[in-house]
Amino acid sequence: TPSKEGKMFIKALFDYDPNEDKAIPCKEAGLSFKKGDILQIMSQDDATWWQATHEGDANPRAGLIPSRHFQERRLALRRPEILVQPLKVSNRKSYAEYAGSHSGTYIAGFRRSFRLSRKDKKTNKSMYECKKSDQYDTADVPTYEEVTPYRRQTNEKYRLVVLVGPVGVGLNELKRKLLISDTQHYGVTVPHTTRARRSQESDGVEYIFISKHLFETDVQNNKFIEYGEYKNNYYGTSIDSVRSVLAKNKVCLLDVQPHTVKHLRTLEFKPYVIFIKPPSIERLRETRKNAKIISSRDDQGAAKPFTEDDFQEMIKSAQIMESQYGHLFDKIIVNDDLTVAFNELKTTFDKLETETHWVPVSWLH
Ligand code: 5GP
Repeated sequence: TPSKEGKMFIKALFDYDPNEDKAIPCKEAGLSFKKGDILQIMSQDDATWWQATHEGDANPRAGLIPSRHFQERRLALRRPEILVQPLKVSNRKSYAEYAGSHSGTYIAGFRRSFRLSRKDKKTNKSMYECKKSDQYDTADVPTYEEVTPYRRQTNEKYRLVVLVGPVGVGLNELKRKLLISDTQHYGVTVPHTTRARRSQESDGVEYIFISKHLFETDVQNNKFIEYGEYKNNYYGTSIDSVRSVLAKNKVCLLDVQPHTVKHLRTLEFKPYVIFIKPPSIERLRETRKNAKIISSRDDQGAAKPFTEDDFQEMIKSAQIMESQYGHLFDKIIVNDDLTVAFNELKTTFDKLETETHWVPVSWLH
């Protein structure tokens, strides 16, 4: 389905260098691109090699790129071990695992996993099989996504802003700074809990207090984006809590585990995903010298000084997130200096609300 004026645009979800591609018929004819680049498709006549240009290029030169089908197939063949390995998230364990196994089925249905399974009798080449499974989170083979320009109309709801990043990167500080910078404009969701209300708390402010039975029913009915258990009580973020922030005509700031992002990518929310990335380990040591870390959501209140292990964990976790979910990120902000990162975030928001952005075509139907 070609988009505007019969033109078709795709977002590349992987890096491509024709010089390193043994399969391309002619390296000089290839078009190199990076993850996130927008390409215009000029021809899909050949099943293996499409022709494309870089969108917005002043002197566009059409070049060959691998077709979706070809790229999917060879990626699945080349890296079966990656495709069947579930992501290990070391922090926020309980709710990452809960959300991973439950929320995954509510919109996405089954996840696929590929594995090398049998040899084709005629050619003696290995074939791959697509197997239904809800155990694996990494089976999607990111190649291309068809996109179209989108600009928010002034009477339209704001897009949901999803913030992801490793524990300790400063995501909560950035969120807090945004909220206090303009309380009318930014909002966050109110979580549900089954624990008893404390005397100073009021229903609907700190939490929405519900019974265990109702919580379990809501989980069954896929009402939660994520949930977890803490000290024998359930806590979770509902889809409706996001809706109620958006209905107040506010920008909803949501931080979640990256594996929940793909379930939020709907026409209704049109999420804009920002990855908060740590700087180099040297800069972490310099800038976080006197800072404290709450090492996971489960040790609330127990802030401790950063250790060398925390820095290494943060960098490792960021690398895993970026390699597995990088194709879902619309923007990457390195949190080296908090003020600089905050200003970059502000600029990103201003642009998001006024400028044209590329979104999946499926959101505009
Ligand atoms: P408290 O009961 O002291 O208000 O919160 C204790 C813990 O509840 C937090 O440290 C965190 O582990 C958990 N919690 C609070 N809100 C949420 C939420 O929205 N989702 C999940 N999964 N856990 C939450």
